[in-house]
Amino acid sequence: MSDIAQNIKHVREQIKKANKDTRLIAVSKTKPVEMLQEAYDAGMRDFGENKVQEILDKYDKLPSDIRWHMIGHLQTNKVKYIADKVYMIHSVDSVKLATEISRRAIQAGRVIPVLIEINIGNEDSKFGIKPDELEDLLRQIADLEGIKISGLMCVAPYTEYAEENRVYFKQMKQLSVDIMQKNIDNVFMNVLSMGMSGDYEVASSEGATYVRVGTGIFGERDYNI
Ligand SMILES: *Cc1c(COP(=O)(O)O)cnc(C)c1O
Repeated sequence: MSDIAQNIKHVREQIKKANKDTRLIAVSKTKPVEMLQEAYDAGMRDFGENKVQEILDKYDKLPSDIRWHMIGHLQTNKVKYIADKVYMIHSVDSVKLATEISRRAIQAGRVIPVLIEINIGNEDSKFGIKPDELEDLLRQIADLEGIKISGLMCVAPYTEYAEENRVYFKQMKQLSVDIMQKNIDNVFMNVLSMGMSGDYEVASSEGATYVRVGTGIFGERDYNI
């Protein structure tokens, strides 16, 4: 078995121990298509990218049944390039962006599932809205056609000790439960995208429906190539 296949197997085993309902997204940013193909051959179908250009570069070179997840900050003027390609957008954090996704999805004749990105650690360096801004944002975008508001996403603070992030994952879960109870039309909270290589087991055990694992599958990234 290749390293990639072995890593996937390991991550899947860990997830299964934590929460069998958690699904795995292989975060393939900066990695060449050959490595994605290896992961595909090992059974992966969900891939996460954080740059529009990278999705475009890889899209035609890989099998068409891959589900591409846009997990990075998305500029409004780039939505048009991926509206017909992405399976889900995890990083909605403004009315403006949601409105543009809606517009482009309608043009593409589809409904795009979107997640609202929450800056759960309240870090200046992170994208996303504050938890107390969520309800207001949802009420402003709930009526948009062409998008389905499916849940929440976060990038938890970097830590060497995964357990330190448990509190944030619990807050994310609670936030989604609280919002669900408000019964806002067209707002669904069945997706919770949280947990990365360093803390995916903890996120999974706290109710993640997707964990996004890059380094743990493909190895360290080299941003200088
Ligand atoms: C890069 C990235 C990941 C994966 O990070 P790893 O630590 O390599 O697993 C997950 N989510 C987002 C939004 C990312 O940008």
